[in-house]
Amino acid sequence: MAVTHIGIDLGTTTSGLAYLRPDGTPDIVPHADGERLTPSVVAFEPQENTTVVGAAARDYGDPARTVRLIKRHLDDPGHLVEIDGRAWTPTELSALILAKLKRDAERTLGPIDECVLTVPANFNELARRATAAAGRLAGFRVRRIVNEPTAAAVYYAHTHDVRGRVMIYDLGGGTLDIAVLEIDGGDLRLLASEGARRLGGSDFDEALLGLMADEYRRQHRTDLFENERQRQQALQTGEDLKKTLSRLPNAANLIGDEQLGLSRIEISRDVFEQAMSRLFTRTHMLVEQALDSASLRPDQIDHVCLVGGGTRMPRIRAMLRDLFGREPLACDNVDECVALGAALFSQKAARVREVCNQGYGTLALLEEADTGRVRYANSIVIPKNTPIPCEYSQTYVTSEDNERALEVAVTQGEDEDPRYVDIVGKIRLELPPGRPAGCEVTVTYGYDADQRIQASVTDHLSGRREEVQVEYVGAGVLSDEQIRRRAVEFRSMKIK
Ligand code: AMP
Repeated sequence: MAVTHIGIDLGTTTSGLAYLRPDGTPDIVPHADGERLTPSVVAFEPQENTTVVGAAARDYGDPARTVRLIKRHLDDPGHLVEIDGRAWTPTELSALILAKLKRDAERTLGPIDECVLTVPANFNELARRATAAAGRLAGFRVRRIVNEPTAAAVYYAHTHDVRGRVMIYDLGGGTLDIAVLEIDGGDLRLLASEGARRLGGSDFDEALLGLMADEYRRQHRTDLFENERQRQQALQTGEDLKKTLSRLPNAANLIGDEQLGLSRIEISRDVFEQAMSRLFTRTHMLVEQALDSASLRPDQIDHVCLVGGGTRMPRIRAMLRDLFGREPLACDNVDECVALGAALFSQKAARVREVCNQGYGTLALLEEADTGRVRYANSIVIPKNTPIPCEYSQTYVTSEDNERALEVAVTQGEDEDPRYVDIVGKIRLELPPGRPAGCEVTVTYGYDADQRIQASVTDHLSGRREEVQVEYVGAGVLSDEQIRRRAVEFRSMKIK
């Protein structure tokens, strides 16, 4: 019998797989090398069809054959990585990481067929679908896609008896996610979630790399790195320094190599924090924004819970302490709690109510009430942070006489300016001839608990109605049939 209640945190820098023990407690399944988390890195060996995933890929030493931080491109199916003449999509590369987690876990647990996968709260439709597709390619039946902070909240509620209004502050390798939830017994209701991309641990590493490169140039009058391999090495040293500075007021290490010349760098926590002040300020602003979205003041939050390796930085804890007037809560395993929470979520999904992470609307001619000026704008149908599942309608009027067809664009994003939103689907409705302008049509969007959008448009006069399930099509997006076929191919792939 296959194991159920598997939760997977497919992270930007590291990934983890958790399961529920028979007594209902979640635990991480260590991978084949005994490590609890797997670096989200893929390397391609020159031998045919062999990929390396995890720590061995991170240390592979050939950047041209190594892929890192692929999660950042899951919303861009056109981002192809070419290795030995084969172009890999972000979905396929993520699937290799998931397949490695699956195979390693199956050695301990036996066959696994389904899982819950987590994504950052601000992942758009395309990235969510790409994540689900990656899961299916890797051989899973993906039961649900759940937001990372929601999974973490389930974990904190279950293990730390957290109740009331709770803020989850999740600073991972690639993103910052903040969620405000109401937790009442076993029931969780998401009130608001905010997130920022390119505001994770790896952005601190990049900023620190800049600092190291300046110091190296000052000492040697040459660049710290001349090629990608040296850059990756320096980034790794920077990450180690960053982690040391979370424990100690000073950190030192050697930078450069024999070829370039070695140099000792010493950095204090003060200097580090000053150099990172822009990033720290952005994280602070996002906390304020999340409180604003939830219409709450800091003193109305009962607990602030830390998630993600980045929250080990003392500056982050101090910022939250100053803002909320009390110490934030940190579990022992901040970088495992998303996966652990996802495993718990798979059992408790019915008691969790999430919100819509983006606004959904349509493009329409809107008349400004005060000036009468007409402009083409994104008209919101489902506002961001609406509890899901939900269904919302808006009524519009046709703008021309004898309009024969309506094309409704389903947009994603909050901006009124059509240039700053994505069109994620279209519905076309044929209209009867000979009608004047001003006939009413109603656009209805439904957003279900699995974060799928159903859109329909109804013409009042004729009663005609068209409905679509919003699906992404286009270059690089795999159809169901393609996923099924490729999943078979993935099964025979050698993954070390
Ligand atoms: P996660 O995705 O939660 O595993 O977070 C990974 C990120 O946390 C990486 O960017 C790590 O560099 C960062 N991280 C892990 N431990 C520490 C630490 N002690 N201090 C600062 N950052 C850390």
